[in-house]
Amino acid sequence: MGETMDYEGGIRELKRSMNAVILAHYYQESEVQDVADFVGDSLALAQAAARTEADVIVFCGVHFMAETAKILNPSRQVLLPDLKAGCSLSDRCPPAAFKAFKDKHPDAFVVSYVNSSAAVKAMSDVICTSSNAVRIVNQIPKDRPILFAPDQHLGRHVMKETGRDMVLWPGSCIVHEIFSEKKLVGLKVEHPDAEVVAHPECEQQVLRHADFIGSTKAILDYVVKSPKKKFIVVTEAGILHQMKKAAPDKTYIPAPPDNGCACNECPYMRLNTLEKLYRCMRDRTPELVLPADLQHAALAPLQRMLEWSA
Ligand code: SF4
Repeated sequence: MGETMDYEGGIRELKRSMNAVILAHYYQESEVQDVADFVGDSLALAQAAARTEADVIVFCGVHFMAETAKILNPSRQVLLPDLKAGCSLSDRCPPAAFKAFKDKHPDAFVVSYVNSSAAVKAMSDVICTSSNAVRIVNQIPKDRPILFAPDQHLGRHVMKETGRDMVLWPGSCIVHEIFSEKKLVGLKVEHPDAEVVAHPECEQQVLRHADFIGSTKAILDYVVKSPKKKFIVVTEAGILHQMKKAAPDKTYIPAPPDNGCACNECPYMRLNTLEKLYRCMRDRTPELVLPADLQHAALAPLQRMLEWSA
């Protein structure tokens, strides 16, 4: 086992022998995406997890995503290459504080973004992703007040799209909130022929420069179909790998964050590597385990999301 180890070959072999399925988020390293059976955004990955018949689900994403897979598949083993792959957005919504927030609005219908802990999901009426948030909120009875957590920027975008008023939990993602409006405007001036595509977790002052706002999957579909040839991409840079694969003749410029970096990567997502993926399959650890009562309580709002977005 040294530097010459063929991790990719080892992973494919283990996948067969374990009857495992590898699900990977668009924000994973490109080599991890390439070895996965399915690459998608949170909604597509939850849907893939719900229909899998594999004995083992290896989740290359962050902790809340692996939790979602486990909630939907209580009898299957769920592995995550690095248990420390958390999420700033989920961490900024601790369950006890969320309960106090919810208790202040006892009549409200509670919508939680999938980027939340299993404990927060368990206190929610329905879950949403950035792909289906507008569709989900549009199905809530008009006479019900709505609480939306934990991403305030996505919440504001959904309010604009649906015309529904919502009480927002003041959370945000460290990756999407640090895109620099100034640098984005500079890029637009430099590339007047480019379209700006952005994720709704970005701040409003960034989103107002976007030609298209959508989930990671919606952005991918948009750039592939668009007659334009150049795009400034305002989301985690991992998606550029699938864009280049799907439409290699186009140019993709990652929007820079408000620091010295040229592009913006999620430090949590990038904790998963090909080597850790191989080792977690070989050793069947780390495994995602949840208490049965929590699993059960979080299942109904997740199932409602899948039904409402079918
Ligand atoms: S990009 Fe943001 S929301 Fe997504 S996993 Fe990373 S920290 Fe969480």
